[in-house]
Amino acid sequence: MDWFYNAFDAAQQWLFVQVIQPLAFWAGAGNLLEQGYGATEWLLVGVLQIAVLVLVLGPAQRLWPVEPVTDRRAVRVDVLYTLLHRLGLFKLLMFFSFEAWALDVFGWLRVRGLPTLQIDQLWPGVTDVAWVSFILYLVLFDLVGYWLHRWQHHWHWWWQLHAVHHSQRQMTMWTDNRNHLLDSVITDLVFVTVALLVGVGPSQFVALVALSQLMESLQHANLRWPWPAWAERLVVSPRFHRHHHAIALSHEPEAALVAGRAPAAEGARAAPRAPDRFGVNYGILFPWWDMLFGSADWRGGYDATGIDDQVLKGRDYGRGFWAQQWLGLRRLAGLARR
Ligand SMILES: [Zn+2]
Ligand SMILES: [Zn+2]
Repeated sequence: MDWFYNAFDAAQQWLFVQVIQPLAFWAGAGNLLEQGYGATEWLLVGVLQIAVLVLVLGPAQRLWPVEPVTDRRAVRVDVLYTLLHRLGLFKLLMFFSFEAWALDVFGWLRVRGLPTLQIDQLWPGVTDVAWVSFILYLVLFDLVGYWLHRWQHHWHWWWQLHAVHHSQRQMTMWTDNRNHLLDSVITDLVFVTVALLVGVGPSQFVALVALSQLMESLQHANLRWPWPAWAERLVVSPRFHRHHHAIALSHEPEAALVAGRAPAAEGARAAPRAPDRFGVNYGILFPWWDMLFGSADWRGGYDATGIDDQVLKGRDYGRGFWAQQWLGLRRLAGLARR
């Protein structure tokens, strides 16, 4: 892997000197060069990810699609979400609005003796080997991600935002970042806080997020790619996550109450009621948490995706980016009024 790190460093250096630095001076932000160097790392990771999507996953989707792409506009909106998130624009926004502030708070707390929950203190020496610590953090972040996702479905207010993600009926590799911005702000802040608490280094954090994002793009892909049963139990497969998005599995808690009477959506299997009435298969990278906490459902085929009241009642979740964001806020505000 050394050649990769060296090439990455060289590319980051080049991009910073040639593009980011002149841009920062032009914008009169020469005092932010240090942050700019970090942002360059995110930008480069994003460019690499998008290259993998376009060059590898895209052709695979065309060769082995789950369903034909009939709504290109819906896919284009997801491309916009992906570019916004992966090319660092969202990260930049987060940094200047919340993360810098979170770093300050943590710095302040540390000075006043906040104990850190470094894994190394619990298990001395375990983080000495880079790949061991990488896997440990990956598993820890995934556990946090599992519960956040489960709560996004369980907590009614949070579902109003997470519904943006589930309202995509034309799910593709671009759908991972289709989230309400407020939802992304909340989850991002939780992960940054966990990273600060357990003492993940900045570069390791970038690598953890990058690997997770790439896996998540694969899981959303419009890709009919059957995995052997053992592999599906090791890592979340596209089929496993598509089942999480299935229309027939009610996500809307109110609709879930009448789901027993609701007809199955066209093209979707009438899935038997899941043990968890808000949904199944919440796992981000590993299905282990679903297996452990009783929310795994292996029965899914390659289901049609969407939310049931979209299909049953024609509820509008928005076609374009701004409509989706605005309607998400309105659903949230509607809850407050009740
Ligand atoms: Zn979900
Ligand atoms: Zn998803």
